[in-house]
Amino acid sequence: MKEYLPKNAYEELAVTIDEGKAISLDLAEHISQAMKSWAISNGVTHYTHWFQPLTGATAEKHDAFFEPLADGSAIDKFTASALVQQEPDASSFPSGGIRNTFEARGYTGWDPSSPAFIYETGGSKTLCIPTIFVSYTGEALDYKAPLLKALNALDKAAVDVANFFDKSVTKVFASLGIEQEYFLVDLALFNARPDLQLTGRTLFGHMSAKGQQLEDHYFGAIPERVLAFMVDLEQEALKLGIPLKTRHNEVAPSQFECAPMFEEINLAIDHNQLLLNLMEQVALRHKFKVLIHEKPYADINGSGKHNNWSMITNTGVNLLSPGKTPKTNLMFLTFFVNVIKAVHDNADLLRASIASAANDHRLGANEAPPAIISIFLGSQLNAVLDEVETARVAKKVKNEALLWHGIPKIPELQLDNTDRNRTSPFAFTGNKFEFRAVGSSANSASPMTVLSAIVANQLIEFKSEVDKQIKKGTKKDLALLNVVRKYIKESKAIRFEGNGYSKEWEEEAHKRGLSNIKTTPKALDVYVSEKSLDLFERLSVLTRRESEARHEILLENYYKKIQIEARVIGEIVNSIIAPAAFKYQNDLITNVKGLKELGLKADAYSSQSNLIERISNHINTILIDAEAMRQERKKANVLEDIREKAIAYDENVKPYFDKIRYHINKLEQIVDDGQWPLPKLRELLFVR
Ligand code: ADP
Ligand code: MG
Repeated sequence: MKEYLPKNAYEELAVTIDEGKAISLDLAEHISQAMKSWAISNGVTHYTHWFQPLTGATAEKHDAFFEPLADGSAIDKFTASALVQQEPDASSFPSGGIRNTFEARGYTGWDPSSPAFIYETGGSKTLCIPTIFVSYTGEALDYKAPLLKALNALDKAAVDVANFFDKSVTKVFASLGIEQEYFLVDLALFNARPDLQLTGRTLFGHMSAKGQQLEDHYFGAIPERVLAFMVDLEQEALKLGIPLKTRHNEVAPSQFECAPMFEEINLAIDHNQLLLNLMEQVALRHKFKVLIHEKPYADINGSGKHNNWSMITNTGVNLLSPGKTPKTNLMFLTFFVNVIKAVHDNADLLRASIASAANDHRLGANEAPPAIISIFLGSQLNAVLDEVETARVAKKVKNEALLWHGIPKIPELQLDNTDRNRTSPFAFTGNKFEFRAVGSSANSASPMTVLSAIVANQLIEFKSEVDKQIKKGTKKDLALLNVVRKYIKESKAIRFEGNGYSKEWEEEAHKRGLSNIKTTPKALDVYVSEKSLDLFERLSVLTRRESEARHEILLENYYKKIQIEARVIGEIVNSIIAPAAFKYQNDLITNVKGLKELGLKADAYSSQSNLIERISNHINTILIDAEAMRQERKKANVLEDIREKAIAYDENVKPYFDKIRYHINKLEQIVDDGQWPLPKLRELLFVR
């Protein structure tokens, strides 16, 4: 930007971005010209607004810079208005009833805080401009718009609280480092599995004899073809400004992880979305397919997307980093405890923010993590909170020094030594919280909007309580400490240090009154509770109408995903599995007939006869179940209420998936390997 913009325009832009102010048309004109020059000098021919509609994918519509003129010549054209606002045909994006088709207009608006970038694919280079996406009437139709609003609310609320300690703080931004887990599968094998192609996960397949039980994949040597992919990915990511830093094997065979250096939230999320596109593209060059589904294989680990989150001031202080002096200690404790309280009071909202059909397979279903939100702090910080809670603090402090006796010294935390509890959905890891229950394919904007909003809300509440006490004559530091202590007491139920995967925890959590909502349609209810509607409205994150629309879109997305899976299962059963099993069964029948003809006694071929019978039973059951499932789908499809429909799909259609899977897996173990029509899990998982 420095190179392409006039000096004063560059400075004006830097300040506007920093302060989150609107950009003047004059400045936009300069920027559009600079962007165009930069892009064209890099071989770019087209530009697009790049946005994140509620489909879960990113969207773009390319326009050429090329503009033909009446006299037959042509010029390169990119105006300020083309930079700032576009009107893509929005009629096919989900809007949850906000946009009637007769008024299908939607607008994309430039987000100057996220740098434009050049994306190269299929031999074509495109200038991509990150934007928000709103309806004609101004309602958000994307992930970014509410996120930016929540971040703004958090900024304000956190600055107000930080000012109790340091008046020079004028801005607080949230930081996010996203660890991305994924599977790789050989492209040719992937293409031979219609279930993977259409749903992103295997809907059946007997687990390979060797799975993850030897734990030999985790952090193991990275296979050469995979490493070549990773190196390629890192280089491409770097070109786009995505600072990928770590790479390694994950627990399950063919499962891997990468993580960039953390960035400001909005940027980190744009970069993660971009990274997902990039992974897909780079993988193809290496004849791989990337699986970012939360649970591609039923019997081994699924994939998550750990969201490492913190708050950092314009003065460079990480507000979740324990301090060295009593004063900075109290500042840390304040923010730390406010986050805990926010999560305690809004655990259901956080749970809803990560709910999806795919993530349901991880949370409390086929995988260990329960759908209970709890916080892990580690023994050191638990001890600190206990100490603060029970410390005897004088009611009236004459001597300032006395007060600090109430605040225990926080031992220097060795970042690498902070207790690790891999089973906790929300863990403090030294100088940040790590929200681990987020699914691998999720757009992190959803959980990060909720987290930012609930923490903002909490900090506002905190400030008002402290101010009240100060007004009554309590010294500031004591007032701060009093409220912190009160919050520690009130939020105890959410703290849990033990094994989050154990049966005992489910029972214990139940006793503590923590929710354990296992399926998406019900987890989403909280989005339209009075408390949430009010919270989002008060903070100007989402209007009621927007919240309600979002709720509807999520439910619709949920049942459609299950509907597609059910259809794919039906099709594969009828046209792939059953015919293959019939053929093999006929081979056996011929065999048995021949043996009989030769005059062998029935005893001599009893195993073969038995196999014929077993195959019949399995096929028959599968066909009956597939038909019964179809009937349930028909019943669900006529339900008008979208929530009821989603629940019907969850409770009446989905249970057939496992039943059918069981019998198909049995058949897979009987039918001649040479005749089995689909690649098996052992091939998908171990061909690298
Ligand atoms: P783990 O040991 O949990 O697997 P990784 O190294 O894979 O950790 O990822 C940790 C992530 O947390 C990285 O993206 C890192 O940049 C990020 N991170 C570190 N400090 C902060 C912070 N203060 N705020 C947000 N993210 C952070
Ligand atoms: Mg990691």
